[in-house]
Amino acid sequence: MPARVDTRAAPVVPRAADAFVLDRLLERLEGVRKCGRGHMARCPAHKDRNASLSVAEGSDGRVLVKCFAGCDVLAIVHAVGLEVADLFPERIADRSPEGRVAQREAYRQSGWVAALGVLTREATIVAIVAGDVAAGRVPSDEYLTRLRLAIERIESAREVLA
Ligand SMILES: [Zn+2]
Repeated sequence: MPARVDTRAAPVVPRAADAFVLDRLLERLEGVRKCGRGHMARCPAHKDRNASLSVAEGSDGRVLVKCFAGCDVLAIVHAVGLEVADLFPERIADRSPEGRVAQREAYRQSGWVAALGVLTREATIVAIVAGDVAAGRVPSDEYLTRLRLAIERIESAREVLA
């Protein structure tokens, strides 16, 4: 049962402050590109050549991060000099024990959302290569390399969802 963050008594913070929460992370990352409703970037917590880090903004303004090579959130934020609380808008950055439990639960759920996004994208790659093979064509080395990456990412996503 996920703990809930009570935001009723919290002061109203303008949306501009929430946007700043996302920018604070994005400006510290390399290889950032738009991807659907979020961004992909090189993960700062491991030697990342494939832009394995998914960064998105939750509906309540919190920043959702997920590395598909398996780095945990703490390692990612520390690698760029931030804390987990920096990913939350001030009005829901609850630093009490209950607040921390709620934050961990939120990160578990954000992992699921990111993993489903990865499965959708990588299934497309697998379908393209499988279509080639089924039609009797030999996939190029480029496609085979991309296929291997797709298999790795699907495996990571499955671990998150398991
Ligand atoms: Zn990583």
